[in-house]
Amino acid sequence: MHGEQWPADTGCPRWCNGEHEQSEPCDTSHRSDPWLVPAVERRAGPDGRDFDRVASTDLTVGIESRWGDTWVWITPEDSVRRSIILSKESAQRLHRMLTTIFGDVAM
Ligand SMILES: [Zn+2]
Repeated sequence: MHGEQWPADTGCPRWCNGEHEQSEPCDTSHRSDPWLVPAVERRAGPDGRDFDRVASTDLTVGIESRWGDTWVWITPEDSVRRSIILSKESAQRLHRMLTTIFGDVAM
């Protein structure tokens, strides 16, 4: 990776919201504003294994550039612990797979 870097003196990527956590001068973290995706999901029951409940939530989706890499995060609004943060390449693979699934499978 490390293909897309925005050194501190070159400004922000076009999707950056301009709010930075800057712990070191050369370690600027660029973040997008979040996008919300309404979702219905099956959730694990009290035993933590069987997915026996249906619930609605908003998924927060965003982009972050940190340490020279670009990441995509997907977070249920009510549980940061269940977030997944994917490399840009992984998110693109997931996107292609979902496109294939919805294109090939009658749903
Ligand atoms: Zn920025």
